Amino acid sequence: MKIFNTLTKSVEEFVPNDASCVTMYTCGPTVYHFAHIGNLRTYIFEDILEKSLNYLGYPVKRVMNITDVGHLASDSDSGEDKMLKGAKRENKSVLEIAAFYTEAFQKDTESLNIKWPEIVSKATDNIEEYIQIITKLLEDGYAYQSGGNVYFDTSKLADYYKLTNHHVDDMVIGVREGVEEDSSKRNQADFVLWFTKSKFEDQALKWNSPWGVGYPGWHIECSGISMKYLGENLDIHCGGVDNIFPHHTNEIAQSEAYLGHKWCNYWIHGEHLNDAMGKMAKSKGDFLTISLLKEKGYNPLAYRFMCLNTSYRKVLVFSYESLENASQAYQKLKNKVCALKQVGEIKEDVFLSFDNQFKEAIGNDLNTANAITLIYDLLKSDVNDATKYALIKAWDRVLSLDLIQLEEFSSFVDTKYIEEQIARRTEAKKNKNYALADEIRSSLESQGISIKDTREGTTYEIKK
Ligand code: AMP
Ligand code: ZN
Repeated sequence: MKIFNTLTKSVEEFVPNDASCVTMYTCGPTVYHFAHIGNLRTYIFEDILEKSLNYLGYPVKRVMNITDVGHLASDSDSGEDKMLKGAKRENKSVLEIAAFYTEAFQKDTESLNIKWPEIVSKATDNIEEYIQIITKLLEDGYAYQSGGNVYFDTSKLADYYKLTNHHVDDMVIGVREGVEEDSSKRNQADFVLWFTKSKFEDQALKWNSPWGVGYPGWHIECSGISMKYLGENLDIHCGGVDNIFPHHTNEIAQSEAYLGHKWCNYWIHGEHLNDAMGKMAKSKGDFLTISLLKEKGYNPLAYRFMCLNTSYRKVLVFSYESLENASQAYQKLKNKVCALKQVGEIKEDVFLSFDNQFKEAIGNDLNTANAITLIYDLLKSDVNDATKYALIKAWDRVLSLDLIQLEEFSSFVDTKYIEEQIARRTEAKKNKNYALADEIRSSLESQGISIKDTREGTTYEIKK
């Protein structure tokens, strides 16, 4: 598989540390609000990456965190804790907010056919791990205490900016809301590992630590959880492009300073979903959710289909017009697949040749748009239905568009048969044999085919 690595800024051949278990870490949601469809675009891309690796023969062990503490309004560690902000907004406790939005997030992933990672760990469940890492960073001189907090000293690293093209003057990146400069830092780029003091609102969740009662910074959470479950040598770390700096830059700094060696080989980032106003963001308050799309009558999988038609590395601009187009194209594609008859023999050589083209598409930096084009090419081709059906069924393990939904039913869908039955019924009605006409209708009905008499004649629909 070839994939774009942010670390080397080039498309590289993927070589795992151990091909029998690829390790993959994906930054999870900060559960202070609903996920917006932009966040979910990133989780769709990560889902496709995991499933593509599986399809190409690599078992994957994937871990994701749930950020329920420590993520402040600015990604550079200032402002109020987002969780506390959410709790105040809704007059609930931080834990209630976390539980509610974690469940909502899980439901969103289900509607989008995003596989829940093998291990999902809450930031608040791993405090011991963060304390252990921070203790060693202090001992080794990579961290210092100042103004009540523990900071990572970025001046100790020659290559702090290796993941990004940013420089110290660009520290405003990731600052989402008006925040003040932290005067306790030695260097502008330094970041908090452990807070005991915040000049803003007091934190709701706190733990004992060697540096006083406090709470972890957001960046240390991902390093701690990743190393706890996936060890010292990570294959893949993902997130949206806004995570490159400072979040992933800081994760690399603290993890490699702690381990004393390179930590993760492939850093893979998904581009943003924008709306007409620019990047969709939870902090903007006004954003689109999966529930809203559902309320408007859209199938969430039409949104997944829309995402898969654009490279994960390109900005996707959301509009209802493009969702509507995607939705119609998706429905048409499903109808075509639904009309396939799973009769006859699967032609092995044809199967392999098409399947290789599919593997080439997903193995070429996750070219899902080409993978979808291949489905259209296959449907247009003179390949027999049984082979088409088998190929699409296999590919949907990666694309997860529910192209083949009613497994048992699809196996006996026979359009010619349906048309014959409709003709028989029309004839019966003509002969005023209404009993027979009704019998034919209910027989079709019981097979999941509903028929409708219109002025243009009788039409049918295959029920989902
Ligand atoms: P958060 O819940 O804010 O921590 O973000 C969760 C994930 O969504 C992170 O991987 C972000 O990089 C990603 N993300 C945030 N905004 C967008 C967006 N507009 N489009 C795509 N991904 C995003
Ligand atoms: Zn993270």
